[in-house]
Amino acid sequence: MLLELKNIKTNYGNIRALKGISLNVDQGEIVCLIGANGAGKSTTLMTISGVLTPIEGDVLYQGRSIVDDTPDKIVQAGISQVPEGRMIFPLLTVKENLEMGAYLRKDKAEVQKDLERVYGLFPILKQRLKQQGGTLSGGEQQMLAIGRALMGRPKLLILDEPSLGLAPIVVGAIFEIIKTIAERGTTILLVEQNAQLALEFSDRGYVLETGLITLADSSQALSQNE
Ligand code: ADP
Ligand code: ADP
Repeated sequence: MLLELKNIKTNYGNIRALKGISLNVDQGEIVCLIGANGAGKSTTLMTISGVLTPIEGDVLYQGRSIVDDTPDKIVQAGISQVPEGRMIFPLLTVKENLEMGAYLRKDKAEVQKDLERVYGLFPILKQRLKQQGGTLSGGEQQMLAIGRALMGRPKLLILDEPSLGLAPIVVGAIFEIIKTIAERGTTILLVEQNAQLALEFSDRGYVLETGLITLADSSQALSQNE
């Protein structure tokens, strides 16, 4: 098991956002979290990436507890998150944005190799290297955000609403690339409000409702439940 959440409870002040979330992700899977706005999907992701610390429960990554680790340490351990809204650096060029994703590594030849891998997945980024991130279209910014996360060589890539605000045709292209990333060995955990879309592209899913998991099954079974 790559990732395991055990009975996670996370608060915002006195408000209990997660009321006991247990889930797991195996190496090589695409797993989705679906559920209505406010269900706790983003809070779950932020608890995994160390932005939030739960008041109860544990997060195990490769069998080791990371629940008290800093976000930087969690990135170094191999978990990269693409936040909701992409959060690229608008004034930096595409290439500089990508290089920021490799800030923890010094070996330039290695970084160059990783850049080539990202260009292979997203050829459009190679054509835009010297453009400022903020001048890209929404879909291109999402690709840049994913590319930047991949520069950290994650074992687990976490995506918060990759389809948000994008045209269906662009979303389809991005999800095809997400599948390719998974096929090449990176495990994926993603959050989507668009449940149908998420289930189409993932192996398994968890349904969240007001801070609890109410269903967990294969994507195929959950689709028939919809
Ligand atoms: P989702 O990602 O499923 O839309 P969230 O994880 O963003 O849900 O939110 C879960 C619950 O926590 C919601 O009730 C939301 O209003 C609340 N919440 C989220 N962020 C904060 C915050 N910064 N302060 C207080 N409550 C928050
Ligand atoms: P999501 O799409 O994940 O549900 P939201 O649109 O609910 O995100 O929230 C956007 C931002 O507002 C997030 O940073 C979230 O933490 C924050 N937020 C959400 N609900 C609340 C709340 N009740 N009080 C304060 N901040 C909140």
